Amino acid sequence: MDRRLFLTTAGLGLGGGLLTACGGGADLAGADPSQMPVASQLASLPVKARVIVVGGGMAGATVAKYLRLWGDAVSVTLIDRSSSYASNIMSSLVLTGQRSMSSLTYKYDTLRSKYGITTVFGEVKSIDPITMKVTMASGVVLSADRIVIAPGIDFDTVAGLGASDLMPHAWKAGAQTTLLAKQLAALPSGGRVLLTIPKTPYRCPPGPYERACLIADWLRVNKPGAKLMVLDANADIVVEKDNFMNAFLGVHGNVIEYVPNAEVTQADPATMTVTTTAGSLRGDVINLIPRQKAGAIISMLGLNNATEGRFAGVNNLTYASTVPGFDKVHIIGDASATLQPKAGHIANQEAKVCADAISRILTGQAPDPAPVTNSACFSTITMTQASWLSAGYQYDPTSAAMKVVPASFGASAGWSSNNFDQMNNWFKSLMLDSFA
Ligand SMILES: Cc1cc2nc3c(=O)[nH]c(=O)nc-3n(C[C@H](O)[C@H](O)[C@H](O)COP(=O)(O)OP(=O)(O)OC[C@H]3O[C@@H](n4cnc5c(N)ncnc54)[C@H](O)[C@@H]3O)c2cc1C
Repeated sequence: MDRRLFLTTAGLGLGGGLLTACGGGADLAGADPSQMPVASQLASLPVKARVIVVGGGMAGATVAKYLRLWGDAVSVTLIDRSSSYASNIMSSLVLTGQRSMSSLTYKYDTLRSKYGITTVFGEVKSIDPITMKVTMASGVVLSADRIVIAPGIDFDTVAGLGASDLMPHAWKAGAQTTLLAKQLAALPSGGRVLLTIPKTPYRCPPGPYERACLIADWLRVNKPGAKLMVLDANADIVVEKDNFMNAFLGVHGNVIEYVPNAEVTQADPATMTVTTTAGSLRGDVINLIPRQKAGAIISMLGLNNATEGRFAGVNNLTYASTVPGFDKVHIIGDASATLQPKAGHIANQEAKVCADAISRILTGQAPDPAPVTNSACFSTITMTQASWLSAGYQYDPTSAAMKVVPASFGASAGWSSNNFDQMNNWFKSLMLDSFA
């Protein structure tokens, strides 16, 4: 920490008691510490701002890493309910047996050893924006100068589903992914799979369509005669329509039936039936992906002030909450409401903008007034071929929103095995950037 940074930090009152006792951080540059009065020696210790990150997924791991990478001004504590992270990205390939869950599991060891991040594992129960205290379910209370919340998503309750695991969403990778893979493996030849798509906004806009393509390709090879019905709550394919519609009507035409405007209203696991706004259907395997909202901690804190109370409104320059009184609490990743897609690549980008803004604010600077982010997305159209979609986003000062840069928007015309290889490279780089 350089002297200027130290003094600025001291000026913010970080580490309060120590600095107050010392009369506020004198300029000690060049002095021999052993000859200084004790109070002055204490004042010369580097005092770091404390940032607590709640949620160690794509957004949380990245913001923790980059806060430490971009200077030594902060100490970072990363909290997650689990000591390992299961990547959602690529998890549909577990359903076809092309990936294992262990190949998608990431630990926090490198974040600890290489960047000096402290990790704490357990559930965060509450956050007080006045005292800046984070309370864990275990009763442990941690103090911070800034708090970043990156809890991902939770699901709406589906009437009739209860706690049944007969219709897994597999939209948070882990046990449900393995379960759905087992259910698909047990599907009788000629059986019927239902895959439901929730209303937008949901996590990973192309994700359900790419999963449908992947399952259809796998069914053709492994379950002759089986059918896949895609029940979409939306009026049409919400993204990359040309590629998905061509695939649904072309290469997967004998397997997939696509039904728009089919929003799930009820589920009955006993009869393996879902009722939708387009009628009731029975399936042998049902991948029911419910409507989504920010991770529960967001509504518990009353930060769900956007998207009809589903997600958290944020200042797009800093990702600080727009709820009065929560200006030192930042929300990134799928839980935040911006015009950017809810995607891992964007979560990584938002994390960097947020880390940069916090680093600047803590050193007395204004946040970058013109942040830019980008999103790249590959979609598996078959078990060996993929398409791609990419977009850049730029801060628009008039609307104070992140808006897509039209010239940056692009999608592949069709799909290829080369894209599939590129997808694997992209995934490896993204995960290294977030977790290593
Ligand atoms: C099948 C599928 C495929 C996808 N494919 C792609 C893709 O190709 N490209 C892409 O960019 N994106 C993709 N995504 C989307 C991507 O996975 C998400 O957008 C991304 O994970 C969001 O990151 P996040 O940090 O907001 O949430 P997460 O990664 O879900 O992390 C949230 C973390 O917060 C923790 N947490 C939550 N609440 C608490 C609490 N109270 N206390 C402690 N810890 C807590 C959770 O344990 C979790 O580890 C895909 C998603 C799915 C489901």
